Amino acid sequence: MLPFDFHSPIERLHLPAFNENQIEVHIKRDDLIHPFISGNKWRKLKYSLEEALALEKSHLVTFGGAWSNHLVATACAGAKFGFRATGFVRGEEVSNPVLKLCKLFGMDLHFVSREAYRDKHQLYENFPKTHESTYFVDEGGRSKLGLLGCTGIIEELAENYDHIFCACGTGTTVAGLATGVLRKGLQTKVHGVPVLKNGDFLYEDIQLLNPEINRSRVTLHTEYHFGGYARSTNELDKFIANFCAQTGILIEPVYTGKLLFAVENLIREHYFPSGSRVLVIHTGGLTGILGNLLSNT
Ligand SMILES: *Cc1c(COP(=O)(O)O)cnc(C)c1O
Repeated sequence: MLPFDFHSPIERLHLPAFNENQIEVHIKRDDLIHPFISGNKWRKLKYSLEEALALEKSHLVTFGGAWSNHLVATACAGAKFGFRATGFVRGEEVSNPVLKLCKLFGMDLHFVSREAYRDKHQLYENFPKTHESTYFVDEGGRSKLGLLGCTGIIEELAENYDHIFCACGTGTTVAGLATGVLRKGLQTKVHGVPVLKNGDFLYEDIQLLNPEINRSRVTLHTEYHFGGYARSTNELDKFIANFCAQTGILIEPVYTGKLLFAVENLIREHYFPSGSRVLVIHTGGLTGILGNLLSNT
């Protein structure tokens, strides 16, 4: 077991639209788990780190875009738990606050072309493994062990909810939520909000991670991508600013902003019967805020 355990707290949100429609919305603050091993990235890394330790591996090798929350989480977790860490970064060499954090936590960065980046197993195979023993961690923490880590969110719940929502990149977190709900025999409906365009493809990716999780076990709301990954609009930016000002909880435009926008919008459209209890997972993430601040300055 890793010497780090944290059960994230749950608090109730009071936005006008929630109260007007008599929907109880609660938020599980996985963003408070750690400032850099953020939210679901900790959940997804946890069992891989334990496996790496058990196999006596000492060097994590992983992959991400230049603004990846997963890269900085792996860099920080490597430093915290005594691993070396190498990150393959998609695209030409750039510098930004996220990559600076990765370096500060001691990660070695290798920039590779978009084409080379597509075959991560090849990059890993070609990586000079000298005297060290390396451990492969897939992009975004996507893996069956990552899914297992995310079932922990459900195991921590002391109360029942009618609906649980999270934002989706690879779909690993929502697959973990649905798996946890299935195992516990709960009636809770699990929903994901893909942050990429045409997010329907995630139904297949989710089933690859756990064949039991089909369309009857998870619902994806694919209309809230705001133009695609890391894209935003004035409407979304305004919603995020209002939310932060009304709640004291930071959300950002890449993941959690789209998630909360979707939940609020569904409530306005009377998607849930009044009296429903909804739980939203705050999966953390700071790169969206860093990126956004940067683009506005
Ligand atoms: C990476 C990330 C996600 C996406 O999680 P998946 O398991 O890949 O779907 C969601 N929210 C935040 C804040 C993230 O950093």
